[in-house]
Amino acid sequence: MTDATNDDQRRKIESHVAELTAIRRDIHQHPEMAYEENRTADIVAKNLEKWGLEVHRGLGGTGVVGTLRRGDSNRAIGLRADMDALYIQEKNTFDHKSLHDGKMHACGHDGHTTMLLGAARFLAEHSEMDGTLHFIFQPAEEGLAGAKAMIDDGLFEKFPCDAVYGLHNMPGIETGHIGVRPGPILAASDRWTVKFEGTGGHGSMPHQGTDPTIAAAQFVIAAQTIVSRNTDPLDTAVISLGHLAGGDPGALNIIPSEVQVGGTARSFTKKARAILERRIPEVAEAIAAAHGCTAKAAYIKGYPATVNWAEQTEISIKAAEAAVGTTQVDPNINPLPGGEDFAFMLQKLPGCYAFIGNGLKSGDEFVHAPRYDFNDDIIANGVSYWVELAKTELRP
Ligand SMILES: [Zn+2]
Ligand SMILES: [Zn+2]
Repeated sequence: MTDATNDDQRRKIESHVAELTAIRRDIHQHPEMAYEENRTADIVAKNLEKWGLEVHRGLGGTGVVGTLRRGDSNRAIGLRADMDALYIQEKNTFDHKSLHDGKMHACGHDGHTTMLLGAARFLAEHSEMDGTLHFIFQPAEEGLAGAKAMIDDGLFEKFPCDAVYGLHNMPGIETGHIGVRPGPILAASDRWTVKFEGTGGHGSMPHQGTDPTIAAAQFVIAAQTIVSRNTDPLDTAVISLGHLAGGDPGALNIIPSEVQVGGTARSFTKKARAILERRIPEVAEAIAAAHGCTAKAAYIKGYPATVNWAEQTEISIKAAEAAVGTTQVDPNINPLPGGEDFAFMLQKLPGCYAFIGNGLKSGDEFVHAPRYDFNDDIIANGVSYWVELAKTELRP
């Protein structure tokens, strides 16, 4: 083991990039869905073992934790990556395109796994830290709360951490730049549904019954006033409709007796989230009553908001500046209304979640789009960020 100067460190990390790129593209070719990341977890575990880390498999399903101990400090830090893919048909034609029909690494978790592996390798070969690092590779970030599954399976009891950090690539941010902010950086991601019921009846004689289509139509518009009239204008929230169904296209003279609508609701604070949860049913029920109908609303809470802790955000900024240079770090990036299950880890422990730029791409190359690909040019910056974070947190 050796100590490295910053130039040495960068050269060393860059000398690993070709091997890391091969790992990244291999994972990209073999996308695995939530809790089915067996092959990916195996690649992770075998590499960690090869580099001399203690490896624990099967946490929260397919999760893997690699542990690296140095010196005698009791301090311990968790660094986390996600491993799962999405149900998307890839439209890329390059050699490393998905081999699995209808499945794709369209969120760059192949890259996240690779960058964290790169950091584990570098730190295993160098000695500039005093304390313990837990490299956490989680399943099922996309909707099925793999972070929570690992926590519920005893992640932080088996591997106690003083702080935990996450990193996600983001198209639209310049290649390899890092953006972070204290406080909420990603939104609480909830779903809602409303079923409007009336009598329905003959379309020519609406006065004979009650019409849930009118109630549903008014609700779709009125729901937007929850954001513009009820939540604080400085406390961003989003309500969008994703589903609307009623009646039959072959029966246009029939007023249906049931109309269903549903959508997503995003918020960054507990206060705004509570307003969305209360007002969506209130508005639906009141509009239904005004039309002699009923409304049954459900508000389904998903991931909470991802809220960065102030002290760890400062550490993240310092690490990012050391890794990629001050001018390539935005310490106060705008939050995004996407959701992320790292939020559950930040509810348990102090920590920080940052973005690394995947480059300025067009719309169909955004995350979750069929022409997306993780940008291998950012691997060295991502690995450097993790390495600097470990060195900053566990300075001898
Ligand atoms: Zn995603
Ligand atoms: Zn993602």
